Amino acid sequence: MNAKHLGHDHGIRHWVNEGKRIAADRKRRIQRTKNWKFDTIATHGLYDIQQATHLNNGSIIEPIYMSSAQAFHGFDEMEVALAYQMPSWTYSRIANPSTFFLEETVALLEAYGTGLDTGCVACSSGMSAIRSAIEPFLINDKSLPTPNFVSTSRVYGGTFQQFHERQMGDKGIEVRWVTDNLDMDEWISKIDKETRFLYGEMPSNPAVALFDIEKIAALAHSHGIPLLVDATCASPALLRPLEFGADIVVQSASKIMAASGFSIAGTVTAKHNIVSKVGPDEMKADFATWMKLIPYRDNGPTLSPFNAILTLNDLRSLRSRAAQMSESALTIAQFLEAHPKVASINYPGLKSHTQAGIADKYLTLVDSQNKNGKSQNAYGYMLTFEVQEKDPYQPNNTRVFYDNLDMIWRATDLGRVKTVATIPAISTHQQQGEKGRELASILPNHVRLSVGIEHVDDIITELDHALCKI
Ligand SMILES: *Cc1c(COP(=O)(O)O)cnc(C)c1O
Repeated sequence: MNAKHLGHDHGIRHWVNEGKRIAADRKRRIQRTKNWKFDTIATHGLYDIQQATHLNNGSIIEPIYMSSAQAFHGFDEMEVALAYQMPSWTYSRIANPSTFFLEETVALLEAYGTGLDTGCVACSSGMSAIRSAIEPFLINDKSLPTPNFVSTSRVYGGTFQQFHERQMGDKGIEVRWVTDNLDMDEWISKIDKETRFLYGEMPSNPAVALFDIEKIAALAHSHGIPLLVDATCASPALLRPLEFGADIVVQSASKIMAASGFSIAGTVTAKHNIVSKVGPDEMKADFATWMKLIPYRDNGPTLSPFNAILTLNDLRSLRSRAAQMSESALTIAQFLEAHPKVASINYPGLKSHTQAGIADKYLTLVDSQNKNGKSQNAYGYMLTFEVQEKDPYQPNNTRVFYDNLDMIWRATDLGRVKTVATIPAISTHQQQGEKGRELASILPNHVRLSVGIEHVDDIITELDHALCKI
């Protein structure tokens, strides 16, 4: 026991032991859950009958603890809890019992099939998850020159802004964009002693660009730095980057993970014992826990417990939704590929896709193995296509098509149960200007389609109707 405690010895000892008991029980439940299949983990997580009857009046659904803070029995428990010597939640900026169930479920899903120990922290949005994940590696170490990091250039518009404007513009931390994701030499040429991590979006939003996670993870580790992957557009149902050597995976849980569209949320999931050139040993040992207890506590990018449970509720059916949406998206991609008003279509499931080999390696439906152990490919809910135009910079046909949509929603949204169409050049990628859009390979006649769970025939009828108005 720690000699500098102010409480009574016997009281301190009691709560430290109580903490050990809670931690051992949690570990036991994690171990049990790890033996389950993906759908079972997604459905139950760590919340079981014993928890429900002891703590929640038997409710079979996880409680929504809409509470700012936790009360303690007395001086000694408060001291032990706030010294992080027993599992507790203290204050909802740092932790909350409802959010805990979401975090533990995501940590297990991201690690599914790997045996890895992982931790997860839920954030108020995908952008706050990305910021929370990268900033610990960009700390100002006065003994070192200004840091940089290397990223795929085909990234979500918000990510481009955060890296280019907030990190590079505001703070002088250089982001080095890789323009050809599959060119190893380009990745290698951008890394130097000051590079703190590698970053990639897979598949990218909206260009559906891919990169070879396994190779880039090995490259990062050979430089003693981690690989961070944003796998939002796949979700853990189709791709778990940790399995291929990535160290940290971020998700905008606002998308297919919470497909009903009730809330915005993000997650950061890290495996234990990552490599990094900077940061304390505790950070490398268990990034997620360290992040939660230190920078997350201080910066406060917390998810509301209410949104945590809404997200968790959608997560239970993630796999079946990902399967249906992927199947429909492939059918729609094939339809669009043959349509005379469509100039080109970008969907990794099409044979014509330039990165089809990489797609087949990485994008598979979890727990879909056939008798020979082969997994079924599923390429996700997002596709982009170019409307036929004389000049892509005069997108007149694109406007006619877009304004003639009826059932399909015109919105900047993604991964929804409802099909949504977006024009990236005037929405998600408006702010970074022509040059930024060029880097991300986005033209004004590009349409991003997020395929929902309606009957696929109805989606196709609607697309055909709008295209035929051109
Ligand atoms: C939407 C999105 C984000 C940002 O997430 P928010 O929850 O909207 O903050 C980050 N990355 C990708 C790939 C996204 O699609």
